[in-house]
Amino acid sequence: MELFSLKGKVALVTGGNGGIGLAYARGLVKAGAKVAIWGRNTTKNEVAIKELTEMGGDVAAFVCDVTDSEKVDTAFAETMAHFGQVDICFANAGGGGPRGMLHQIEDAAWQGVLDLNLNSVVYTYRKVITQLLERKAAGKLIVTSSVAGLIGTGFAAGYSTTKSAVIGLTRALAVELGRNNIQVNAILPGYVETEMSLNTSDAFKAAVVRRSVSGKIGTLADMEGIAVYLASSASNFMTGQSVILDGGHMVHPM
Ligand code: NDP
Repeated sequence: MELFSLKGKVALVTGGNGGIGLAYARGLVKAGAKVAIWGRNTTKNEVAIKELTEMGGDVAAFVCDVTDSEKVDTAFAETMAHFGQVDICFANAGGGGPRGMLHQIEDAAWQGVLDLNLNSVVYTYRKVITQLLERKAAGKLIVTSSVAGLIGTGFAAGYSTTKSAVIGLTRALAVELGRNNIQVNAILPGYVETEMSLNTSDAFKAAVVRRSVSGKIGTLADMEGIAVYLASSASNFMTGQSVILDGGHMVHPM
């Protein structure tokens, strides 16, 4: 089999209609996977499907709010009805959560970021895991964490907390599922310009560039290759790992 080929595989990408998730989907389509994308916004879903189809992909979009476990169950059933299997899952949908000092964050906002960046991953993964175990199929589970899961992001404690939590979840599931030939890994991007990061100040961006050993900010194209690697059999001996993809930001001494 061709190294990195995803022919015959079906991948699910939550938050696949834009930003980093759409970049993963582009990589997966290029490697030959069939791809299901989930997002809340039907227009964004349609635009993404048009692009991926024009690339030659066998793709479909499903409307889903991943913070609601019942909606996840429904979208997963729709995805299975369409493709018949899900071999690869990118739990990628997420967002920044509330900003401000922790002691001023209201319960609803705190619960909101837990639901969006942590509980959503659990809701999605458990559907995929059940189906993989029933089929006795090999699988790949990949979550989009962040370098914010390793460093302190002041005034965004919910973001750091949830992005760390999914690293713990990744390690636990790697142990739980290793004998079932299901590998579980996390991608930790540094700063990438997407809708989520639009509000970032110029000063923050300048600081990112200064600390990046490559002198560059991450692009969506930079996200494609890691998605293909972690989804393919090339990564079969790699599990429980957190892959930092940040242009060298985290290794910079200053
Ligand atoms: P975008 O805002 O560009 O994309 C977010 C995606 O998630 C969209 O497809 C959106 O679709 C979907 N989404 C958001 N909320 C929900 C929900 N409740 N249910 C279903 N889908 C949802 O953000 P990014 O691409 O930047 O972020 C993707 C992931 O990457 C996130 O987990 C983020 O934390 C992480 N990340 C981002 C970094 C960056 O610098 N941009 C750095 C490190 C990590 P829709 O609106 O249609 O629901």
